[in-house]
Amino acid sequence: MSSHITPLLERNLAFAATDIRMHTPRLPFLPHEGLYVITCIDPRTDPAQFLGLRFAEAIVARTVGGRVTPAVIQDLAYIGYLVETKAPEGPYFEAAIIHHTDCGSGLLADEQLRHGFAQRTGYDEDALADLPVLDPAATVRADVERVVSDPRISPRITVSGHVYDVHTGLVTTIVEPVAPAGSAAGLPV
Ligand SMILES: [Zn+2]
Repeated sequence: MSSHITPLLERNLAFAATDIRMHTPRLPFLPHEGLYVITCIDPRTDPAQFLGLRFAEAIVARTVGGRVTPAVIQDLAYIGYLVETKAPEGPYFEAAIIHHTDCGSGLLADEQLRHGFAQRTGYDEDALADLPVLDPAATVRADVERVVSDPRISPRITVSGHVYDVHTGLVTTIVEPVAPAGSAAGLPV
């Protein structure tokens, strides 16, 4: 069976022939630019392209819509905890949440499509209704709030919110970096 990745293995050979992979951070969870980017899985919204990210400059998480899911919270909590325990002197990172215009998650706003998907998969229909990015400035604000209000997230990091316009190619900041409130107990309330 032919594989879609086969042609790209040529590019892997070219990569392996360079020394790019040697330019690693002091610890792998301390990316060079101190950034943890969360954006959509849409192939047009690759932050390596629109932010010009190079090797090991950022941790990148991609979800449908760039939405902050429980898995995103868990990963952010884990990386924050790693920095707190393995490199308490930092540097700490900024979680930059980026939603975008013309997002395919918006299709889930269609009741019939959402219902069909829920029927097909068993996912909760009401939870799916919260997912669509129709107004990226509004959803990114909500997701920044979701992270900063979660006591599992290290209060040493910062969180910011942005919108990427797929037509102009420009990123607009909606929420300047804020620190999570944190919790001494480190447990959800
Ligand atoms: Zn999208």
